Amino acid sequence: MSQVADRSSVVIMNTYGSRPRTFVRGDGIVLFDDAGKSYLDCLGGLAVVAVGHANPAVTRAVADQVAVLAHTSNLFHTEPQVELAEKLVAISGLDRVFFANCGATANEAAIKLARRYGQALSGPDRYRIVSLNDSFHGRTLATLAATGQPAKQATFAPLPVGFHQVPGGDIDAMAEAVDESVAAVMLEVVQGEGGVVSWSADYLRDVRSLCDEAGTLLIIDDVQAGMGRTGNWFSWQDVNIKPDIASVAKALANGLPVGACLATAEVAAAFQPGDHASTFGGGPVVCAAALATIGEIEERGLLTNARARGQQLTHGLMALDGVSGVRGKGLLLAAVLDDDLAPEVVAAALDNGLILNAVRPNAIRWAPPLSITASEVVDAVAIFDASLSGVRTASDGN
Ligand SMILES: *Cc1c(COP(=O)(O)O)cnc(C)c1O
Repeated sequence: MSQVADRSSVVIMNTYGSRPRTFVRGDGIVLFDDAGKSYLDCLGGLAVVAVGHANPAVTRAVADQVAVLAHTSNLFHTEPQVELAEKLVAISGLDRVFFANCGATANEAAIKLARRYGQALSGPDRYRIVSLNDSFHGRTLATLAATGQPAKQATFAPLPVGFHQVPGGDIDAMAEAVDESVAAVMLEVVQGEGGVVSWSADYLRDVRSLCDEAGTLLIIDDVQAGMGRTGNWFSWQDVNIKPDIASVAKALANGLPVGACLATAEVAAAFQPGDHASTFGGGPVVCAAALATIGEIEERGLLTNARARGQQLTHGLMALDGVSGVRGKGLLLAAVLDDDLAPEVVAAALDNGLILNAVRPNAIRWAPPLSITASEVVDAVAIFDASLSGVRTASDGN
């Protein structure tokens, strides 16, 4: 164990299990550990580092802003916040923005807004939130209640009431669940933590119709799949539906902590002064970082690149022995293995200089920077192939 790992085990709460490396520096898709070894970061800091590590444009924007004004509180306006909101409105087709600090707090805002709107519209009985099995919406108590993973919830009972899950992709189960007591259906178009599982356009359009018929809002949690990862700015744009409320966070500011809850003007009007707030949300530094990140995606054509590199990566992975399929969209993909070897393959890949993670015993997530190049895809697939065949040979021998 490195010195940092030793010290960490003394003072950091053990919520993350063992952490196998200490990183000290990044450059584009590459990370360097404390022994000087380099890695291709094809996890992108969990779908966060959209335009590469130590991106010069983002670095400059952050440095310039922090040198001038880092914080005012939300009692006052700052221009970077308004400019980022204008940009998010322009690319999303939604109308209003509330800034939070991360995915969970963006989703908390979404849930509170849906309840506020639902109760104003239909009275105090419209508060329930229907989400999907295997979903992931965050670790705060309300977002954990919305998360369809009983194993993550069990030891924190009692959770806030009014949350209910149904199987994803099953429109009959959704139809049964959605009635006048439901403030919102909340779902991910691509379930990232749930194994990189996506739903058909037909299912999503049918859910949208069910919501419209029942006067229920549709919240799309685009914290992981949004901000260009699927090859569009937002995942719902791939399937031509529009949510009433959406949340984004991970890739929004290339690693600086910010989240945003977006909504239509009609729904957003339910929030009155004093209803919701955040001390840090949408501060000028993170907003400057987000604007620079969005600027990089636009100037470098990274939505197109996400689609093209995603296809290249899919074809490259499909051709490998031991890979039975590839799930996901754009640059949010999972390689599905023939066998339950994902943790072993991830560990071998790390040793070989490639960062990925296991989202299922048989599925490995890829979420590289949207700026990954064609030759970096070739290199990453070659390392993955060597790692996979090494683990398969070793496990055959047992
Ligand atoms: C990561 C994630 C969250 C939680 O985001 P945090 O920033 O960790 O709070 C919520 N929803 C989805 C879909 C996510 O992938």
